[in-house]
Amino acid sequence: MTTGKTRKVLLLPGDGIGPEVMKPVAGLLAEMAARKLLSLEVREALIGGAAYDKTGHPLPPETVSLARESDAVLLAAVGGPRYDTLPYEHRPERALLGIREKLGAFANLRPARLFPQLANASTLKPEVIAGLDLLVVRELTGGIYFGAPRGIVTENGIRVGINTERYSEPEIERIARVAFTVARNRRRKVTSVDKANVLESSVLWREVVTRVGRDFPEVSLDHMYVDNAAMQLVRNPGQFDVIVTGNIFGDILSDEASQLTGSIGMLASASVGGRTGLYEPIHGSAPDIAGKDIANPSAMFLSLAMLLDHSLGEAGLARTLEQSVETVLGEGIRTRDIAEPGSRVVGCREMGEKISRVFWDLLEKGSAAK
Ligand code: NAD
Repeated sequence: MTTGKTRKVLLLPGDGIGPEVMKPVAGLLAEMAARKLLSLEVREALIGGAAYDKTGHPLPPETVSLARESDAVLLAAVGGPRYDTLPYEHRPERALLGIREKLGAFANLRPARLFPQLANASTLKPEVIAGLDLLVVRELTGGIYFGAPRGIVTENGIRVGINTERYSEPEIERIARVAFTVARNRRRKVTSVDKANVLESSVLWREVVTRVGRDFPEVSLDHMYVDNAAMQLVRNPGQFDVIVTGNIFGDILSDEASQLTGSIGMLASASVGGRTGLYEPIHGSAPDIAGKDIANPSAMFLSLAMLLDHSLGEAGLARTLEQSVETVLGEGIRTRDIAEPGSRVVGCREMGEKISRVFWDLLEKGSAAK
């Protein structure tokens, strides 16, 4: 039965496989509302290439206002080859950076956990990845993706591309606090990743993270250069608990961490820090498989699980949803990207139906994790 006030959730399906993976998740949310499990007001808006096609802008002002009025936003993916030649301001990816910025979501939480059922899907040896459970805390609204000056200019007849890596003390301090705070509820270990042997912004990063760490004596802290971190992630990923790093390093390392688990289609992320949390799979719009009903919707369901947990305070439902994904995997049912010999390969729609059905079964049986 529903309790409390109505919570507003905004759905942004976007481009490519976005609408396909969003559909079963939107269906589950609608069913949660219809069965009065939660009091929800679910709306949908345009973003990315789909928004550009209809409005001439990848992030229409209406989408921003709806997002700001919501408790949480669930975004699928944006982008596609036919938008690649548009000017930067009109590119779908601009909307992605824009919405995170507008929501003040400065911290991106990217868990990489090995589902035991998918141990064989990793390219690493099982003994290297056994028990993998790490969280990359990526700074999301600063660094080289936003720093000025930027652009392509002509100097003495030669074209030059310019971007600026830039971090202020308060920006570093607030992301460090997020990392230490989440580490307290995990294995209490933070690894800060930088390039302090070359970049001044990293020298400041290291200094501020070290200072913030003193406020969290129960959490251990070590520092690692980004090139070493990239190696260590494939050599011995079990050494990591929470990795905190800047925007560009986090972008790259979290994708690397995702491969450890076997499939980019299994990983969710949360962007938090403002009033409204933003939840999205880490994968893109996968134009190579869009419209073929073969995309894996699991990351989208797991993004909803993070939304339920972090923005709606429904940790029990979040665990049940995670358990539903695991149960379906355990039954040997797989989308093509995570298929193994002997597994039954299903499409996006059927995978979504199975996960939703198991979710309701687990709730009805009352056997769900509390
Ligand atoms: P991608 O994540 O879209 O695809 C990489 C590979 O993983 C592809 O082979 C794809 O088929 C596969 N894949 C991704 N998601 C999958 C899923 N759910 N199920 C099964 N397979 C899946 O990355 P890309 O190819 O580098 O980028 C494609 C487009 O997406 C580009 O326009 C890019 O800018 C955009 N992009 C968007 C986001 C986002 O919206 N958050 C993130 C990354 C890339």
